[in-house]
Amino acid sequence: MTYTKENQRQLFDLSKKLLDEKGDLAEGAAKKQLADLRKVIIYHEWRYYVLNQPVVSDFEYDTLFKRIEALEAQYPKLITPDSPTQRVSNDLTETFPSVEHLVPMLSLANSYNREDLNDFDTQIKKLAGLDENAAVEYCVEPKYDGGSIALVYEDDLLVRAATRGNGALGEEITNNMKALRSVPMRAAFSKKGMKKVELRGEALIRKDIFDKVNKQREKDGQSVFANPRNAATGGLRMKDPKEVAKRGLEAFLYQLGYAVDGDGKDLLNVFKTHDDGIEMLSDLGFKVPTDQRKVCKNIDEVVAFCKQWEQKRDKYEYEIDGMVIKVNSLALQDKCGYTSHHPRWAIAYKFKAKQATSKLINVEYQIGKIGSITPVAKLEPVQLAGVTVSSVSLHNEEFITSKDLRIGDTVLVERAGDVIPYIVKAMDELRDGAEQAIVFPSSCPSCSSTLVKAENEAAWRCENYACEAQVVQRMIHHVSKDAMDIDGFGKSYVERFHEEGWLKTIADIYRLDYDKIASLEGFGKRSATNLEKAITKAKSNPLHRLLYSLSVHHLGKKVSKLLAAEIQHVLELKDWKEEDFTLIKDVGPTVAKNVTAFFDNPDNVALLNEMEELGVNVKQTSDDLPKMVSEDAPLFGKTILFTGSLSLMGRKEAQEKAAAAGAKNISAVSSKLNILVAGEKAGSKLKKAQALGTVEILTEQEFVDLISEN
Ligand SMILES: [Zn+2]
Repeated sequence: MTYTKENQRQLFDLSKKLLDEKGDLAEGAAKKQLADLRKVIIYHEWRYYVLNQPVVSDFEYDTLFKRIEALEAQYPKLITPDSPTQRVSNDLTETFPSVEHLVPMLSLANSYNREDLNDFDTQIKKLAGLDENAAVEYCVEPKYDGGSIALVYEDDLLVRAATRGNGALGEEITNNMKALRSVPMRAAFSKKGMKKVELRGEALIRKDIFDKVNKQREKDGQSVFANPRNAATGGLRMKDPKEVAKRGLEAFLYQLGYAVDGDGKDLLNVFKTHDDGIEMLSDLGFKVPTDQRKVCKNIDEVVAFCKQWEQKRDKYEYEIDGMVIKVNSLALQDKCGYTSHHPRWAIAYKFKAKQATSKLINVEYQIGKIGSITPVAKLEPVQLAGVTVSSVSLHNEEFITSKDLRIGDTVLVERAGDVIPYIVKAMDELRDGAEQAIVFPSSCPSCSSTLVKAENEAAWRCENYACEAQVVQRMIHHVSKDAMDIDGFGKSYVERFHEEGWLKTIADIYRLDYDKIASLEGFGKRSATNLEKAITKAKSNPLHRLLYSLSVHHLGKKVSKLLAAEIQHVLELKDWKEEDFTLIKDVGPTVAKNVTAFFDNPDNVALLNEMEELGVNVKQTSDDLPKMVSEDAPLFGKTILFTGSLSLMGRKEAQEKAAAAGAKNISAVSSKLNILVAGEKAGSKLKKAQALGTVEILTEQEFVDLISEN
């Protein structure tokens, strides 16, 4: 089965249109819509199961599928034998031989919220003939996002492994599974009287390994996997088991599907609960969900456990896209039975989708406080993990070219947890030729200066310090918590006052007319007074905050502190040469160059003079000086050197302890050295110090005793 690009584009657009379809239809319209739905579902199944490259999210696929089910329920006579609802899904290809599962692997019905789970619970009680107030016990485990597998053990040996396939038939991948260290080749089922068993589980790849695999593929010029599931399902079907082992797959087992003794007698009923079955697998050496599995006393506990995992799914080392809820009692499971597609005693709770496709409409360029230009993609709004996403950072030009993104592209977007949404890739198979290259601007969108790029930097920059867009960003930085920390003064105020024409430079912040602010819509006397208080307070900030607030490229918080400790007045830096900066430990040539350039600009000096006149502190304060070590410190004024290997602490820790005790760490043995701490296997430095005769030599323990004296 193949689709042309044009077909694919049409089917994709049709899918997006069908996603919005709701409600009952007249028979003629239903028939037409069902034909469309079947067409797109067959296409998406091909993308998902055959290519491992879905172009819609699972949620979107499920929505389309449910729409078919709903219309078919309304008009049963419209059900066709080839409707996707008439078979279980299929991942069969012709690469591997097909084998029949001992027991069909059915898929699970899906649920998306508390109501769905409550309905499920109600249904279970009905099927089991229980009172509606009775509590059913459930076993809840993660829904691993990998490739489903079935393992057959006979006489304790792994004799066969297969993919899920269409549920009845799977692909035989025994050798590939044998390459997985987490799958025992032998397991003592015979001790339980079991001759032949079939287990269900999931082969998956840990997220950190997935990242490594993708990085390597990018390096090798191969296409990257959209997600760990694709990497895992692709891994299951590799031709060479050695390559499978390298892919880093692991297998979690979560169900005993079949177990018989030597006479073919069913042994599944030796367990009371599903949980007992998993415990046995764990005892036999299989990897099973442990902390991620819970026996819940009732449906409320189930809901709480599911929500809890939805919260922390991103911190878990494996990708999970939901939870699986199973009736724990096997007797009760029997009472509930099966539909033709699903067990009635289990349901999947699906988390909100983290990935979705959307269209890249346009690219805008944002200018940062030091002039860095950041391209931002504007997308057709799309729901991701419960939030509407319509713009995503593209970081820099290199990101755009490496992903070959174009305007008009359908892109796969991901939003995981607290991570900012990002574009995974463009779906180039959906291109119709109308897409346009993203042309990175050569001049600043705000001031039209020619953009420049330093050799070792990723960003293009506007170097015009007076560039209006930059000035606004610098003001936002100036008032921020880490800089001048002006309480209540944020981005929106800066932008508003700038629009009013009140803020042209940072100095204007200290010239604001509070009466005017009070009369501004949405403000008032009170907020103006609070702002005045906060700005007045900020005027007496220590010098290091002022330095950091100036947005000098590379001048971070740490170096601002180091510089503030060295000067009495900010304008002293005007006379510093680059080499004066680099004399300070931890101050490098790049920051030296940037600070020198800043003070060489007379506009900046004028700005600082203005600020001083407006009452902003520009002088060193006691907060700018490093905390002094007391003269009573045990090693006050001494120089110290550690040599040999230390056993009680690391070298760095020892040096920090010595410094805290008033000593200065130096790196060579000379007449300037007071104390040498000699660890094990101390060599030439110890000999040299002994030869000098002026150096106090301590063992590591003696050093520890000395610093803990006070
Ligand atoms: Zn500019």
